[in-house]
Amino acid sequence: MNIIYVSPEIVPFAKTGGLADVAGTLPKCLSKLGHNVTVFMPLYKGVKNVTNPVQMNLSFEIPIFNNSKPGSIYKGFLPESKTPIYFIENDGYYGRNELYKDPKTGKDFADNCERFIFFSRGVLEAIKLLKLTPDIIHCNDWQSALIPVYLKTLYATDLCFQKVRSVFTIHNLGYQGLFWHWDMKLTGLDWSLFNWKQLEFFGNLNLLKGGIVFSDVINTVSKKYAEEIQTTDDFGKGLEGILRERSKDLYGILNGIDYSVWDPAHDRLIPANYSINDLKGKQVCKRHLQQRFNLPQKDVPVLAMITRLDVQKGVLLLADIFDDLMKLDLQFVLLGTGNIEYESRFKAYAKQYPKKVGIYIGFDNALAHEIEAGADIFLMPSKYEPCGLNQLYSLRYGTVPLIRNTGGLADTITDCTPATLKNGKANGFSFDEFTSQALLKTITRAVTLCKDKARWLRIMKHGMKQDWSWEHSAREYAKLYEKALQKA
Ligand code: ADP
Repeated sequence: MNIIYVSPEIVPFAKTGGLADVAGTLPKCLSKLGHNVTVFMPLYKGVKNVTNPVQMNLSFEIPIFNNSKPGSIYKGFLPESKTPIYFIENDGYYGRNELYKDPKTGKDFADNCERFIFFSRGVLEAIKLLKLTPDIIHCNDWQSALIPVYLKTLYATDLCFQKVRSVFTIHNLGYQGLFWHWDMKLTGLDWSLFNWKQLEFFGNLNLLKGGIVFSDVINTVSKKYAEEIQTTDDFGKGLEGILRERSKDLYGILNGIDYSVWDPAHDRLIPANYSINDLKGKQVCKRHLQQRFNLPQKDVPVLAMITRLDVQKGVLLLADIFDDLMKLDLQFVLLGTGNIEYESRFKAYAKQYPKKVGIYIGFDNALAHEIEAGADIFLMPSKYEPCGLNQLYSLRYGTVPLIRNTGGLADTITDCTPATLKNGKANGFSFDEFTSQALLKTITRAVTLCKDKARWLRIMKHGMKQDWSWEHSAREYAKLYEKALQKA
Protein backbone atom coordinates (compact mmCIF):
# COMPACT_ATOMS: atom_id res chain seq x y z
CA MET A 1 0.00 0.00 0.00
CA ASN A 2 1.12 3.57 -0.63
CA ILE A 3 0.55 5.45 2.59
CA ILE A 4 0.94 9.14 3.30
CA TYR A 5 1.29 9.82 7.02
CA VAL A 6 0.65 13.42 8.10
CA SER A 7 1.42 14.72 11.57
CA PRO A 8 1.99 18.19 13.08
CA GLU A 9 4.75 16.80 15.32
CA ILE A 10 7.17 13.93 14.99
CA VAL A 11 10.02 12.72 17.22
CA PRO A 12 12.90 13.66 17.00
CA PHE A 13 12.06 16.79 14.99
CA ALA A 14 9.36 18.35 17.17
CA LYS A 15 7.40 17.17 20.18
CA THR A 16 4.85 18.53 22.61
CA GLY A 17 3.16 15.24 23.53
CA GLY A 18 2.51 11.57 22.84
CA LEU A 19 1.48 12.12 19.20
CA ALA A 20 5.10 12.94 18.34
CA ASP A 21 6.28 9.59 19.76
CA VAL A 22 3.62 7.74 17.78
CA ALA A 23 4.39 9.59 14.56
CA GLY A 24 8.11 8.93 14.94
CA THR A 25 7.63 5.18 15.13
CA LEU A 26 4.43 3.96 13.45
CA PRO A 27 5.50 5.00 9.90
CA LYS A 28 8.78 3.10 10.29
CA CYS A 29 6.93 -0.02 11.49
CA LEU A 30 4.53 0.21 8.56
CA SER A 31 7.53 0.46 6.22
CA LYS A 32 8.97 -2.67 7.82
CA LEU A 33 5.70 -4.46 7.10
CA GLY A 34 6.39 -3.77 3.43
CA HIS A 35 4.24 -0.68 2.89
CA ASN A 36 5.46 2.33 1.01
CA VAL A 37 5.19 5.13 3.57
CA THR A 38 5.83 8.84 3.08
CA VAL A 39 5.62 11.26 5.98
CA PHE A 40 4.73 14.98 6.09
CA MET A 41 5.12 17.63 8.79
CA PRO A 42 5.72 21.41 8.94
CA LEU A 43 9.28 22.73 8.74
CA TYR A 44 9.43 24.27 12.21
CA LYS A 45 12.49 26.28 13.15
CA GLY A 46 13.74 23.53 15.48
CA VAL A 47 13.78 20.87 12.75
CA LYS A 48 17.05 22.18 11.36
CA ASN A 49 18.74 21.65 14.75
CA VAL A 50 18.04 17.94 14.40
CA THR A 51 18.50 17.25 10.73
CA ASN A 52 19.58 18.96 7.58
CA PRO A 53 16.72 18.50 5.14
CA VAL A 54 17.37 19.06 1.47
CA GLN A 55 15.42 21.82 -0.21
CA MET A 56 13.72 20.48 -3.29
CA ASN A 57 13.21 22.59 -6.32
CA LEU A 58 9.47 22.54 -5.84
CA SER A 59 7.24 25.33 -4.65
CA PHE A 60 3.53 26.06 -4.51
CA GLU A 61 1.06 28.78 -3.62
CA ILE A 62 -1.92 28.37 -1.31
CA PRO A 63 -4.85 30.78 -1.51
CA ILE A 64 -5.62 32.12 1.95
CA PHE A 65 -8.67 34.38 1.63
CA ASN A 66 -7.58 37.23 -0.68
CA ASN A 67 -3.90 36.38 -0.49
CA SER A 68 -1.67 33.76 -1.97
CA LYS A 69 0.93 32.28 0.39
CA PRO A 70 4.08 30.59 -0.89
CA GLY A 71 5.39 27.25 0.29
CA SER A 72 8.19 24.89 -0.60
CA ILE A 73 9.21 21.33 0.16
CA TYR A 74 12.22 19.96 2.02
CA LYS A 75 13.18 16.30 2.14
CA GLY A 76 14.73 14.16 4.85
CA PHE A 77 14.37 10.70 6.34
CA LEU A 78 13.04 9.40 9.62
CA PRO A 79 16.13 8.53 11.70
CA GLU A 80 17.67 5.10 11.11
CA SER A 81 15.26 4.33 8.32
CA LYS A 82 14.63 4.74 4.64
CA THR A 83 11.21 6.28 5.29
CA PRO A 84 11.12 9.66 3.55
CA ILE A 85 9.78 12.72 5.33
CA TYR A 86 8.79 15.90 3.54
CA PHE A 87 8.72 19.16 5.45
CA ILE A 88 6.27 21.84 4.36
CA GLU A 89 8.08 25.16 4.45
CA ASN A 90 6.75 28.63 5.01
CA ASP A 91 9.00 30.56 7.33
CA GLY A 92 6.34 33.06 8.32
CA TYR A 93 4.12 30.28 9.63
CA TYR A 94 6.57 27.75 11.04
CA GLY A 95 9.90 29.54 11.60
CA ARG A 96 9.13 30.07 15.28
CA ASN A 97 10.65 28.68 18.45
CA GLU A 98 7.40 27.11 19.66
CA LEU A 99 4.97 24.86 17.83
CA TYR A 100 1.61 26.26 18.88
CA LYS A 101 2.00 28.78 21.67
CA ASP A 102 3.52 32.21 21.90
CA PRO A 103 6.13 31.92 24.68
CA LYS A 104 5.67 35.60 25.55
CA THR A 105 1.96 35.30 26.35
CA GLY A 106 1.64 31.55 26.95
CA LYS A 107 -1.37 31.70 24.62
CA ASP A 108 -1.95 29.94 21.30
CA PHE A 109 -0.57 31.79 18.28
CA ALA A 110 -3.34 33.99 16.90
CA ASP A 111 -2.84 32.58 13.39
CA ASN A 112 -2.91 28.86 14.29
CA CYS A 113 -5.95 28.25 12.12
CA GLU A 114 -4.25 29.82 9.09
CA ARG A 115 -0.98 27.96 9.81
CA PHE A 116 -2.67 24.57 9.69
CA ILE A 117 -4.99 25.39 6.80
CA PHE A 118 -1.80 26.17 4.91
CA PHE A 119 -0.20 22.94 6.13
CA SER A 120 -3.20 20.79 5.15
CA ARG A 121 -3.49 22.24 1.66
CA GLY A 122 0.30 22.35 1.38
CA VAL A 123 0.48 18.58 1.91
CA LEU A 124 -2.05 17.99 -0.89
CA GLU A 125 -0.17 20.32 -3.25
CA ALA A 126 3.11 18.66 -2.35
CA ILE A 127 1.67 15.19 -3.07
CA LYS A 128 0.80 16.43 -6.55
CA LEU A 129 4.16 18.09 -7.15
CA LEU A 130 6.04 15.02 -5.94
CA LYS A 131 3.82 12.84 -8.16
CA LEU A 132 3.08 10.53 -5.27
CA THR A 133 0.22 8.11 -5.80
CA PRO A 134 -1.19 7.39 -2.36
CA ASP A 135 -3.85 4.83 -1.58
CA ILE A 136 -4.25 6.17 1.94
CA ILE A 137 -3.72 9.56 3.55
CA HIS A 138 -3.51 9.09 7.28
CA CYS A 139 -4.10 12.35 9.19
CA ASN A 140 -3.61 13.04 12.87
CA ASP A 141 -5.40 15.50 15.13
CA TRP A 142 -6.95 18.87 14.32
CA GLN A 143 -3.83 20.27 12.65
CA SER A 144 -4.32 17.96 9.65
CA ALA A 145 -8.07 17.39 10.04
CA LEU A 146 -8.93 19.57 7.05
CA ILE A 147 -7.23 17.16 4.64
CA PRO A 148 -10.18 14.70 4.65
CA VAL A 149 -12.49 17.71 4.17
CA TYR A 150 -10.49 19.00 1.18
CA LEU A 151 -10.35 15.51 -0.35
CA LYS A 152 -14.15 15.37 -0.41
CA THR A 153 -14.63 18.99 -1.56
CA LEU A 154 -12.04 21.24 -3.24
CA TYR A 155 -9.87 18.31 -4.37
CA ALA A 156 -12.72 15.86 -5.08
CA THR A 157 -12.37 16.09 -8.83
CA ASP A 158 -8.58 16.20 -8.84
CA LEU A 159 -7.35 13.18 -10.77
CA CYS A 160 -4.49 12.67 -8.32
CA PHE A 161 -6.84 11.89 -5.46
CA GLN A 162 -9.60 9.88 -7.14
CA LYS A 163 -8.70 6.63 -5.48
CA VAL A 164 -7.37 7.99 -2.22
CA ARG A 165 -9.08 7.11 1.06
CA SER A 166 -8.51 9.00 4.29
CA VAL A 167 -7.91 7.74 7.80
CA PHE A 168 -8.15 10.13 10.71
CA THR A 169 -6.68 9.46 14.14
CA ILE A 170 -7.87 11.34 17.20
CA HIS A 171 -5.11 11.44 19.82
CA ASN A 172 -6.97 13.64 22.28
CA LEU A 173 -10.48 15.03 21.96
CA GLY A 174 -9.56 17.80 24.37
CA TYR A 175 -7.82 19.63 21.50
CA GLN A 176 -10.22 20.33 18.66
CA GLY A 177 -8.80 23.25 16.75
CA LEU A 178 -11.64 25.66 17.57
CA PHE A 179 -11.55 29.04 15.85
CA TRP A 180 -13.93 31.91 15.32
CA HIS A 181 -16.29 31.55 12.42
CA TRP A 182 -14.62 34.16 10.18
CA ASP A 183 -11.62 31.82 9.84
CA MET A 184 -13.93 29.81 7.59
CA LYS A 185 -13.00 32.35 4.91
CA LEU A 186 -9.35 31.32 5.14
CA THR A 187 -10.12 27.68 4.42
CA GLY A 188 -11.33 28.35 0.86
CA LEU A 189 -14.26 26.03 1.63
CA ASP A 190 -17.84 26.85 0.80
CA TRP A 191 -19.84 28.49 3.60
CA SER A 192 -22.49 25.80 3.15
CA LEU A 193 -20.18 23.45 5.08
CA PHE A 194 -20.47 25.74 8.08
CA ASN A 195 -23.42 23.92 9.62
CA TRP A 196 -23.85 21.90 12.80
CA LYS A 197 -23.50 18.56 11.00
CA GLN A 198 -20.16 19.48 9.43
CA LEU A 199 -17.70 22.22 10.45
CA GLU A 200 -19.69 24.42 12.79
CA PHE A 201 -19.58 23.91 16.56
CA PHE A 202 -21.59 26.31 18.72
CA GLY A 203 -20.92 29.19 16.36
CA ASN A 204 -17.23 28.39 15.90
CA LEU A 205 -15.20 26.60 13.27
CA ASN A 206 -14.14 23.15 14.54
CA LEU A 207 -11.38 21.53 12.50
CA LEU A 208 -11.36 18.23 14.41
CA LYS A 209 -15.07 17.86 13.70
CA GLY A 210 -14.27 18.21 10.00
CA GLY A 211 -11.83 15.29 10.25
CA ILE A 212 -14.42 13.15 12.03
CA VAL A 213 -17.20 13.91 9.56
CA PHE A 214 -15.26 13.71 6.31
CA SER A 215 -12.67 10.96 6.77
CA ASP A 216 -13.40 7.47 5.47
CA VAL A 217 -12.34 5.72 8.66
CA ILE A 218 -11.64 7.14 12.12
CA ASN A 219 -9.73 5.72 15.01
CA THR A 220 -8.49 6.71 18.37
CA VAL A 221 -5.65 5.33 20.43
CA SER A 222 -7.30 2.73 22.65
CA LYS A 223 -10.45 0.64 22.49
CA LYS A 224 -11.73 1.97 25.79
CA TYR A 225 -11.29 5.63 24.75
CA ALA A 226 -13.08 4.85 21.45
CA GLU A 227 -16.06 3.72 23.55
CA GLU A 228 -15.83 6.50 26.13
CA ILE A 229 -15.85 9.35 23.62
CA GLN A 230 -19.26 8.23 22.36
CA THR A 231 -20.83 8.45 25.81
CA THR A 232 -20.87 11.78 27.66
CA ASP A 233 -19.66 15.30 27.23
CA ASP A 234 -16.93 14.60 29.81
CA PHE A 235 -15.22 12.33 27.28
CA GLY A 236 -16.67 13.45 23.95
CA LYS A 237 -16.18 17.16 24.67
CA GLY A 238 -19.36 18.01 22.76
CA LEU A 239 -18.54 15.76 19.80
CA GLU A 240 -20.04 12.58 21.31
CA GLY A 241 -23.13 12.87 19.08
CA ILE A 242 -21.19 13.15 15.85
CA LEU A 243 -18.90 10.31 16.98
CA ARG A 244 -21.91 8.11 17.69
CA GLU A 245 -23.16 8.83 14.19
CA ARG A 246 -19.88 7.47 12.86
CA SER A 247 -19.58 4.61 15.33
CA LYS A 248 -19.50 1.97 12.56
CA ASP A 249 -16.33 3.55 11.21
CA LEU A 250 -14.72 4.32 14.56
CA TYR A 251 -12.01 2.01 15.89
CA GLY A 252 -9.55 1.87 18.77
CA ILE A 253 -5.90 0.90 18.25
CA LEU A 254 -3.53 1.11 21.17
CA ASN A 255 -0.27 2.97 20.67
CA GLY A 256 2.92 0.98 20.91
CA ILE A 257 6.28 1.69 22.46
CA ASP A 258 9.59 2.19 20.74
CA TYR A 259 11.75 -0.18 22.76
CA SER A 260 14.88 0.97 20.94
CA VAL A 261 14.44 4.20 22.93
CA TRP A 262 12.49 3.14 26.02
CA ASP A 263 14.15 0.04 27.47
CA PRO A 264 16.38 0.08 30.57
CA ALA A 265 18.48 -2.73 29.09
CA HIS A 266 20.11 -0.32 26.60
CA ASP A 267 18.82 3.16 27.52
CA ARG A 268 21.82 5.52 27.19
CA LEU A 269 20.17 8.27 29.19
CA ILE A 270 20.15 6.41 32.51
CA PRO A 271 23.10 5.93 34.90
CA ALA A 272 22.97 2.12 34.90
CA ASN A 273 21.30 -0.41 32.63
CA TYR A 274 19.20 -3.26 33.93
CA SER A 275 16.71 -5.86 32.82
CA ILE A 276 14.19 -8.33 34.21
CA ASN A 277 17.01 -10.84 34.81
CA ASP A 278 19.38 -8.42 36.47
CA LEU A 279 17.77 -5.63 38.42
CA LYS A 280 20.87 -4.31 40.23
CA GLY A 281 21.03 -1.27 37.96
CA LYS A 282 17.56 -0.14 39.02
CA GLN A 283 18.85 0.48 42.52
CA VAL A 284 21.69 2.60 41.08
CA CYS A 285 19.13 4.58 39.08
CA LYS A 286 17.03 5.12 42.20
CA ARG A 287 19.94 6.48 44.20
CA HIS A 288 20.92 8.70 41.28
CA LEU A 289 17.38 10.07 41.04
CA GLN A 290 17.25 10.81 44.76
CA GLN A 291 20.56 12.62 44.49
CA ARG A 292 19.40 14.53 41.40
CA PHE A 293 16.49 15.93 43.44
CA ASN A 294 18.49 16.40 46.65
CA LEU A 295 16.44 13.81 48.47
CA PRO A 296 17.89 11.55 51.17
CA GLN A 297 19.15 8.29 49.62
CA LYS A 298 16.79 6.18 51.70
CA ASP A 299 15.04 2.93 50.98
CA VAL A 300 11.53 4.43 50.73
CA PRO A 301 9.18 4.17 47.75
CA VAL A 302 9.79 6.92 45.22
CA LEU A 303 6.57 7.99 43.52
CA ALA A 304 6.84 9.87 40.24
CA MET A 305 4.91 11.80 37.63
CA ILE A 306 6.01 13.07 34.22
CA THR A 307 3.20 15.04 32.76
CA ARG A 308 1.67 18.05 31.18
CA LEU A 309 0.33 19.99 34.16
CA ASP A 310 -3.22 19.98 32.97
CA VAL A 311 -6.54 19.19 34.60
CA GLN A 312 -6.79 16.12 32.31
CA LYS A 313 -3.85 14.50 34.08
CA GLY A 314 -5.46 14.52 37.53
CA VAL A 315 -2.72 16.69 39.04
CA LEU A 316 -5.28 18.49 41.18
CA LEU A 317 -6.41 15.21 42.74
CA LEU A 318 -2.87 14.81 43.96
CA ALA A 319 -2.41 18.44 44.99
CA ASP A 320 -5.56 18.24 47.12
CA ILE A 321 -4.27 15.32 49.22
CA PHE A 322 -0.65 16.38 49.28
CA ASP A 323 -0.44 16.94 53.02
CA ASP A 324 -1.95 13.50 53.67
CA LEU A 325 0.44 11.99 51.16
CA MET A 326 3.37 13.50 53.02
CA LYS A 327 2.34 11.64 56.17
CA LEU A 328 3.27 8.40 54.39
CA ASP A 329 6.83 7.15 54.30
CA LEU A 330 7.68 7.98 50.70
CA GLN A 331 9.31 10.46 48.35
CA PHE A 332 7.71 12.17 45.37
CA VAL A 333 9.27 13.59 42.21
CA LEU A 334 7.52 15.44 39.44
CA LEU A 335 8.67 16.54 36.00
CA GLY A 336 6.12 18.68 34.28
CA THR A 337 5.12 21.89 32.67
CA GLY A 338 1.85 23.55 31.81
CA ASN A 339 -0.70 25.42 33.91
CA ILE A 340 1.18 28.16 35.79
CA GLU A 341 -1.04 27.86 38.86
CA TYR A 342 -0.32 24.15 39.18
CA GLU A 343 3.38 24.79 38.64
CA SER A 344 3.47 27.20 41.59
CA ARG A 345 1.45 24.87 43.75
CA PHE A 346 3.90 22.00 43.28
CA LYS A 347 6.92 24.28 43.63
CA ALA A 348 5.49 25.39 46.98
CA TYR A 349 5.16 21.75 48.09
CA ALA A 350 8.81 21.16 47.22
CA LYS A 351 9.75 24.09 49.47
CA GLN A 352 7.48 22.86 52.25
CA TYR A 353 8.74 19.25 52.11
CA PRO A 354 12.34 19.51 50.86
CA LYS A 355 13.32 16.06 52.19
CA LYS A 356 10.43 14.30 50.51
CA VAL A 357 9.60 16.19 47.33
CA GLY A 358 11.53 17.08 44.17
CA ILE A 359 9.95 19.17 41.42
CA TYR A 360 11.38 20.09 38.04
CA ILE A 361 9.26 22.46 36.01
CA GLY A 362 10.15 22.18 32.35
CA PHE A 363 10.41 19.72 29.48
CA ASP A 364 13.45 17.46 29.78
CA ASN A 365 13.60 14.19 27.88
CA ALA A 366 16.78 12.90 29.58
CA LEU A 367 15.28 13.53 33.00
CA ALA A 368 12.13 11.69 31.91
CA HIS A 369 14.27 8.61 31.27
CA GLU A 370 16.06 8.97 34.62
CA ILE A 371 12.74 9.21 36.42
CA GLU A 372 11.28 6.19 34.65
CA ALA A 373 14.34 4.19 35.69
CA GLY A 374 14.77 5.52 39.21
CA ALA A 375 11.22 5.61 40.58
CA ASP A 376 9.26 2.76 42.16
CA ILE A 377 5.71 3.84 41.42
CA PHE A 378 4.46 5.95 38.49
CA LEU A 379 1.28 7.98 39.05
CA MET A 380 -1.27 8.61 36.29
CA PRO A 381 -4.55 9.59 37.98
CA SER A 382 -5.97 10.96 34.71
CA LYS A 383 -9.49 12.23 34.31
CA TYR A 384 -9.37 10.77 30.82
CA GLU A 385 -6.44 9.28 28.91
CA PRO A 386 -6.75 8.40 25.22
CA CYS A 387 -3.84 5.94 25.41
CA GLY A 388 -1.07 7.13 27.71
CA LEU A 389 2.51 6.22 27.00
CA ASN A 390 4.16 6.67 30.35
CA GLN A 391 2.39 3.72 31.95
CA LEU A 392 3.78 1.56 29.14
CA TYR A 393 7.31 2.95 29.55
CA SER A 394 6.95 2.41 33.31
CA LEU A 395 6.03 -1.24 32.84
CA ARG A 396 9.27 -1.93 30.98
CA TYR A 397 11.31 0.02 33.55
CA GLY A 398 9.86 -1.97 36.47
CA THR A 399 8.26 1.20 37.78
CA VAL A 400 4.83 0.07 38.82
CA PRO A 401 2.04 2.22 37.34
CA LEU A 402 -0.76 3.49 39.54
CA ILE A 403 -3.58 4.69 37.33
CA ARG A 404 -7.17 5.73 37.15
CA ASN A 405 -9.27 3.26 35.17
CA THR A 406 -9.89 5.21 32.00
CA GLY A 407 -9.05 4.98 28.30
CA GLY A 408 -5.73 3.36 27.43
CA LEU A 409 -4.76 3.18 31.09
CA ALA A 410 -7.70 0.82 31.72
CA ASP A 411 -6.78 -1.21 28.63
CA THR A 412 -3.21 -1.82 29.76
CA ILE A 413 -3.05 -1.93 33.56
CA THR A 414 -4.46 -4.74 35.69
CA ASP A 415 -5.00 -3.88 39.32
CA CYS A 416 -3.09 -5.88 41.88
CA THR A 417 -5.44 -8.14 43.85
CA PRO A 418 -4.70 -11.49 45.47
CA ALA A 419 -6.21 -13.17 42.37
CA THR A 420 -4.32 -11.15 39.74
CA LEU A 421 -1.10 -11.45 41.69
CA LYS A 422 -1.50 -15.20 41.65
CA ASN A 423 -2.44 -15.58 37.98
CA GLY A 424 0.41 -13.33 36.83
CA LYS A 425 -1.83 -10.54 35.46
CA ALA A 426 -1.21 -7.86 38.11
CA ASN A 427 1.03 -5.18 36.64
CA GLY A 428 -0.06 -2.11 38.58
CA PHE A 429 -2.69 -0.44 40.74
CA SER A 430 -5.90 1.21 39.67
CA PHE A 431 -8.95 3.02 40.97
CA ASP A 432 -12.27 4.01 39.41
CA GLU A 433 -13.66 7.16 40.96
CA PHE A 434 -12.03 10.43 39.96
CA THR A 435 -11.59 11.60 43.55
CA SER A 436 -8.64 12.51 45.72
CA GLN A 437 -9.69 10.00 48.36
CA ALA A 438 -9.75 7.13 45.87
CA LEU A 439 -6.27 8.14 44.77
CA LEU A 440 -4.97 8.37 48.33
CA LYS A 441 -6.43 4.99 49.20
CA THR A 442 -4.74 3.40 46.20
CA ILE A 443 -1.40 5.07 46.90
CA THR A 444 -1.59 3.81 50.49
CA ARG A 445 -2.34 0.31 49.20
CA ALA A 446 0.61 0.41 46.79
CA VAL A 447 3.07 1.89 49.27
CA THR A 448 2.11 -0.78 51.81
CA LEU A 449 2.61 -3.59 49.31
CA CYS A 450 5.91 -2.08 48.22
CA LYS A 451 7.35 -3.15 51.59
CA ASP A 452 6.63 -6.77 50.74
CA LYS A 453 9.69 -7.16 48.53
CA ALA A 454 8.83 -10.60 47.12
CA ARG A 455 5.32 -9.64 46.07
CA TRP A 456 6.51 -6.28 44.72
CA LEU A 457 9.11 -7.98 42.58
CA ARG A 458 6.39 -10.17 41.10
CA ILE A 459 4.31 -7.14 40.07
CA MET A 460 7.39 -5.45 38.62
CA LYS A 461 8.35 -8.52 36.64
CA HIS A 462 4.82 -9.12 35.31
CA GLY A 463 5.01 -5.65 33.79
CA MET A 464 8.60 -5.86 32.59
CA LYS A 465 8.02 -8.94 30.51
CA GLN A 466 4.98 -7.59 28.69
CA ASP A 467 5.39 -6.62 25.08
CA TRP A 468 3.73 -3.35 24.08
CA SER A 469 5.84 -2.83 20.97
CA TRP A 470 4.49 -1.32 17.78
CA GLU A 471 4.50 -4.49 15.67
CA HIS A 472 1.02 -5.57 16.75
CA SER A 473 -0.49 -2.07 16.49
CA ALA A 474 1.12 -1.45 13.09
CA ARG A 475 -0.63 -4.56 11.77
CA GLU A 476 -3.89 -3.23 13.19
CA TYR A 477 -3.34 0.03 11.29
CA ALA A 478 -2.71 -1.91 8.10
CA LYS A 479 -6.08 -3.62 8.62
CA LEU A 480 -7.67 -0.23 9.21
CA TYR A 481 -6.29 1.03 5.90
CA GLU A 482 -7.82 -2.02 4.18
CA LYS A 483 -11.17 -1.07 5.69
CA ALA A 484 -10.77 2.50 4.41
CA LEU A 485 -9.96 1.23 0.93
CA GLN A 486 -13.22 -0.69 0.85
CA LYS A 487 -15.17 2.55 1.28
CA ALA A 488 -17.04 3.75 -1.78
P1 ADP B 1 0.04 13.42 26.36
O1 ADP B 1 0.30 13.20 24.92
O2 ADP B 1 -1.41 13.55 26.72
O3 ADP B 1 0.84 14.55 26.94
P2 ADP B 1 1.20 10.79 26.76
O4 ADP B 1 1.40 9.95 27.99
O5 ADP B 1 0.49 10.15 25.61
O6 ADP B 1 0.50 12.13 27.19
O7 ADP B 1 2.62 11.25 26.23
C1 ADP B 1 3.40 12.16 26.91
C2 ADP B 1 4.81 12.06 26.40
O8 ADP B 1 5.48 13.28 26.69
C3 ADP B 1 5.60 10.98 27.09
O9 ADP B 1 6.59 10.53 26.20
C4 ADP B 1 6.21 11.74 28.28
O10 ADP B 1 7.37 11.13 28.77
C5 ADP B 1 6.51 13.06 27.65
N1 ADP B 1 6.51 14.19 28.58
C6 ADP B 1 5.44 14.81 29.13
N2 ADP B 1 5.84 15.86 29.88
C7 ADP B 1 7.19 15.87 29.83
C8 ADP B 1 8.20 16.72 30.40
N3 ADP B 1 7.89 17.74 31.18
N4 ADP B 1 9.49 16.45 30.11
C9 ADP B 1 9.81 15.41 29.32
N5 ADP B 1 8.92 14.58 28.74
C10 ADP B 1 7.62 14.81 28.99
